[in-house]
Amino acid sequence: MSASRSLFCQHVLLPEGWTSDVTLTIAANGSIASIETGPAQSRASQHAAGPVVPALHNLHSHAFQRAMAGLAELAGSTDDSFWTWREAMYRLVGRMSPDDIEAVAAKLYSELTKGGFGHVVEFHYFHHAAGGRRHANPAETSLRILRAARATGIGLTLLPVFYAHAGFGGAEPGQGQRPFIHDADQFLALLDALKPECAATGATLGLAVHSLRAATPEEMRTILSAEATGGPIHIHVAEQEREVEDCLAWSGRRPVEFLLDEMPVDGRWCAIHATHMTPGETIRLARSGAVAGLCPATEANLGDGIFPATDFARDGGAYGIGTDSHVATSVAEELRLLEYGQRLRDRRRNRLAGGPGASVGRTLFDAALKGGGQAAGQPTSGIRVGARADLVVLDGDNPFIAAATGDQLLGRWLFALGSEAIRDVMAAGQWVVRQGRHRNEEEIDRAFREVLLKLV
Ligand code: ZN
Repeated sequence: MSASRSLFCQHVLLPEGWTSDVTLTIAANGSIASIETGPAQSRASQHAAGPVVPALHNLHSHAFQRAMAGLAELAGSTDDSFWTWREAMYRLVGRMSPDDIEAVAAKLYSELTKGGFGHVVEFHYFHHAAGGRRHANPAETSLRILRAARATGIGLTLLPVFYAHAGFGGAEPGQGQRPFIHDADQFLALLDALKPECAATGATLGLAVHSLRAATPEEMRTILSAEATGGPIHIHVAEQEREVEDCLAWSGRRPVEFLLDEMPVDGRWCAIHATHMTPGETIRLARSGAVAGLCPATEANLGDGIFPATDFARDGGAYGIGTDSHVATSVAEELRLLEYGQRLRDRRRNRLAGGPGASVGRTLFDAALKGGGQAAGQPTSGIRVGARADLVVLDGDNPFIAAATGDQLLGRWLFALGSEAIRDVMAAGQWVVRQGRHRNEEEIDRAFREVLLKLV
């Protein structure tokens, strides 16, 4: 798209609420240039084919894991857990080339756009080849992630991950972890190399520390004092009970407690999972300004536990959603499971609604838009002037959608329909999904199928 164009929306969810008869003008750089209210303007170049809402940010992805989604649902000889799943994931990593990573990431990102995401935060720790053999360009696999995002049109926040150890206290990494490992100097050099690459492609660069298991506090301080990305900082924390026990044995403190005591956690930070917290940790994390990065489908799949979302939201905590291992790839599935986990625990309904009479779907959607934007380093999110034009058009021909108004639309989409409610998706002003199909779907599927036939 070279010149500005306009989109007439009969119903659209703006920051101030549902609004009728709105014309959005989209600038050549893919951002929203103006928002005007009034009857269908003859100069609007296109009309949205249904109600329009902002596309959300997916705040947590390990793209390569999409290749194994659904194949670990097979009982082993012992008690299956997160830790046995992780062994299966290491076996996959040992067989994937940079070409494979790119093809799988492109497939995943096309699926995410169809699921209602306009932006993805890639928590990227798969840096090297099998056994830890270095690629000629140390940034090779990160560049493949950038290419996959460009091919699909999804917005990208790239978080190269620092990963150095197998367990608390600086334990030596195992063989399966070798493709992930850097020392602090190598990691800082990787960030420097990626800065111009991200700037050239419009991606946001931040960084991540894999977990308190994978980095010592000294290494984390070295990296945090030297990095100059200005972008978000993410970390996996308190996903599993064993991690809490190991952290207590090592430090005398629980993981979230340790993180908040020892690191300068603020609004730049996103605590991924944070499933296992005491009430005191929950309040402290909420008040830190950090976002809780929740991945309800993966957390259910891996048997992690249930995040204390009702308490965290009551304490003013910000949260967003990610798809992590990608057993699900849609906005609806993650938000629905987030709410249902709270209901199953409490044996009550409508746990995350914003107050009496408030729509659960609307509360969840607004929270994930705000928290996801913050965690992606994109604070100007939603349909507003200056924001990227990342839009989801619900299917006006679907009878559930056609007969709904206002927040009922979110209730139908998120709790009763799922991705079939989505017709078109725009990312940075470009239509990437039309009538439920991604613009490069055939080409992306062909490459992905070849990778699967080779790997599986
Ligand atoms: Zn993760």
